[in-house]
Amino acid sequence: AATKETYVFQTEVGRLLEIVTDSLYSNREVFLRELISNASDACDKLRHSALTAPSLVTDDPEFRIVLEADAEGGTLTLSDNGIGMNHDDLMETLGTIAKSGVGAFLDKLEDGEKARMNLIGQFGVGFYSAFMVASRVDVLTRKAGEEESWLWSSEGKGEYSIEPAERDGRGTTVKLHLKEDAREFLESPRLRHVVKTYSDHIAFPIRLGDDTLNDASALWLRPAKDITPEQYKEFYRHTAHAFDDPWLTVHNQVEGIVSYANLLFVPSMRPFDLFDPERKSHVKLFVNRVFITEETDGLMPAYLRFLRGVVDSQDLSLNVSREMLQTDPKLAKIRSGLTKRILTELKKKAEADTEGFATFWSNFGAVLKEGLVEDTGLRDKILEICRFSSTNAHGLTSLAGYLERMKDGQEAIYYIAGTDAEKLAHSPHLEGFKAKGIEVLYFTDPVDEFWLRHITDFEGKTFKSVTHGAADLDGIASGGEAETEPSKTDAPDIAALLVIMKTALGDKVKDVRASKRLTESPVCLIADEGDMDVNLERILRQTGQ
Ligand code: ADP
Ligand code: MG
Repeated sequence: AATKETYVFQTEVGRLLEIVTDSLYSNREVFLRELISNASDACDKLRHSALTAPSLVTDDPEFRIVLEADAEGGTLTLSDNGIGMNHDDLMETLGTIAKSGVGAFLDKLEDGEKARMNLIGQFGVGFYSAFMVASRVDVLTRKAGEEESWLWSSEGKGEYSIEPAERDGRGTTVKLHLKEDAREFLESPRLRHVVKTYSDHIAFPIRLGDDTLNDASALWLRPAKDITPEQYKEFYRHTAHAFDDPWLTVHNQVEGIVSYANLLFVPSMRPFDLFDPERKSHVKLFVNRVFITEETDGLMPAYLRFLRGVVDSQDLSLNVSREMLQTDPKLAKIRSGLTKRILTELKKKAEADTEGFATFWSNFGAVLKEGLVEDTGLRDKILEICRFSSTNAHGLTSLAGYLERMKDGQEAIYYIAGTDAEKLAHSPHLEGFKAKGIEVLYFTDPVDEFWLRHITDFEGKTFKSVTHGAADLDGIASGGEAETEPSKTDAPDIAALLVIMKTALGDKVKDVRASKRLTESPVCLIADEGDMDVNLERILRQTGQ
């Protein structure tokens, strides 16, 4: 027979636990939110598995989460009849941290006590938060469909053990041996209050004795008017495994050829995996309240991958495979409805709250702009939302704002592309434009170069790089300081100089020309009309193309 095995926590977990266990974190009641969130996830996972293997749940079909406080023993237990964990699952999950970004999180923690408290609040530590209140945690668990049960146990001090055990039926029981100063969590009113505060949105009943403490219905199906901002926030945190506040909440119930409900959030902080090459969506798909998948490729476009939350439709079939789902025309209908809705909401925000929108834009603007390349049909709608910094605007400007400030006779929207707005601002290419008071947009995201190859104009005005060809400023009324025209008498000398320069530079350059665009610098590099922009050339070289 198998016996007790002892393991050492992964280094990161060890460091994390040291911080968590010693922490005087004032908000430590959140451990309950974390454990309930895990229990709810476990129920979702099993309900999903039961779609194809109904026998997994026939003996105990009603999902629930049960709290029990033992005042004498000083223990608080949380039981669920979700999917449970086998030996491998335990090894993989409770002892390691799979989440990306934990390393960065820990590095920040080194910077002192105050930062530490703040960050625990922001990031949360999931299961490990149990060690804020418990001197020992026992996890008794049995995976649905399997015979063996396991006891995982740890004092949170570097080691944990796993041994065979007995459990009635599937699911997981987390037993917390509460620290002396955490006995408050044995009191029913306290527990009730904490569950109401953080976990009311959980769709499975949470019981304490005979009472069900929460509403136990899917939050996204409740009328928006009945939902408080706090409930939205806690639902967001649970469903996104996030710890910031939602920046935008979009909740609708749509009746139509395809009916669906959506409860979507834009985070206020940038998720760690935003620029991962997989560009994964994180919106969860439910069919008639049953969790289907978090990785539905066809549900949201990749350029909206910063969204979190759920979409639920009764009109999709429960029994289709993920592959079939992706090509389901009903899903495509939901996708296009949602995409338009989100863009509309973003536009409203951009117009109503310039400052708040700047935060969104610095987090997610570069991602949204991918849509300019990928979503031809909605290009104009996306362009309306785009914001740019420029030589003129304080803060960010829209393209419409730029058009309003254009000079008489100006036919193009001028931009300069590069990685660093600071550096761009001092570029010699801008001198002529500044002298004339012509605004130039800074395009500082690599993606700008790509959409510019697809989109040539906005409301009839073409985009033109100031580093490109003979940007002709002559026809444009001057708004700035008077121009210094090169005197005619210099002309022959310049021609001679150009010849000398061309000879000296050989085929390193295509041409050497005199230009009016410089007022202070003697020389600048430009790309020829029709050639690749200097910045694009650099980006492509970096990516090895
Ligand atoms: P997260 O929930 O963000 O994945 P946690 O630290 O809260 O991170 O949990 C780690 C993992 O442990 C979960 O992803 C899950 O696989 C497993 N787990 C925790 N609690 C349970 C539970 N009650 N039932 C089944 N699995 C669980
Ligand atoms: Mg969790």
